[in-house]
Amino acid sequence: MSKAKSVYVLSKGALTKLRNKGVKNCARCSKIFQTNNVVASSTTNILFCYDCASAINLVSGKIDEDFELGKFIPGYFENIDSITRAIRIDFDTTQLALQIIKKALQSHPLPSKNPLGFASAAIYYACKLNKYEIDKIVKQFPVSERVLIKNYSKLQHCLTPIPLIEGN
Ligand SMILES: [Zn+2]
Repeated sequence: MSKAKSVYVLSKGALTKLRNKGVKNCARCSKIFQTNNVVASSTTNILFCYDCASAINLVSGKIDEDFELGKFIPGYFENIDSITRAIRIDFDTTQLALQIIKKALQSHPLPSKNPLGFASAAIYYACKLNKYEIDKIVKQFPVSERVLIKNYSKLQHCLTPIPLIEGN
């Protein structure tokens, strides 16, 4: 399998940069890229939509694995890293937060419009699981408590398996 150079989500800024370079659509299916699309670039810098990248075996098709190839994914991993360092969260809890984010991304590639808020929520959740005194650290997060709680409920939603059969 050829490896993708990077897999990432097209932020508004990234999309603008691409358009300025004249790149507007997937090199295979010609689908026009939109904000928040997941894309993969080949080692030769050709850009594909995630479906095509998957079809040509550029990526595995498992978004959480593929994202690890990417340098500037939605920013979740970098955010976890910087926040946990800033508020002094221990290594194990940081790893747990990363696992939580990965798990959430598995079923919801774009869980939140606010990567910082979502990363904070994952750390918040990891801290809860590891019995931190949550009231003491809640004010140290780089987002407001309101944003934190909102993202925390989104996170919980992402971590809840989707029922295969919907009951009436
Ligand atoms: Zn395509």
